Amino acid sequence: MTPSVGRIVHYVSYGTPGGEYASQCRAAIVTGVPKYLVAEPMDGCPNGTDGEWIASLAVPNPTGAFFNENVPQDENEHSGGTWHWPERTD
Ligand SMILES: [Zn+2]
Repeated sequence: MTPSVGRIVHYVSYGTPGGEYASQCRAAIVTGVPKYLVAEPMDGCPNGTDGEWIASLAVPNPTGAFFNENVPQDENEHSGGTWHWPERTD
């Protein structure tokens, strides 16, 4: 699936090093889809090359919102600082 502006995805927050807060999914709105990938090994390749997508996100947390550009997709590990499509429940 191709990310597009206005879609809702999950952003994975970073947990705190001491474990006070666990890494967890947050709702996020896609605010931009960059033309090119920005990280190695595919820096400069068109966004979506080999299924690698980055997106700009607005993340409305319960206690405040933040904005982030060039967030990488991670459907497998759900690592902190990445986004993925919401889990399907159907
Ligand atoms: Zn999730």
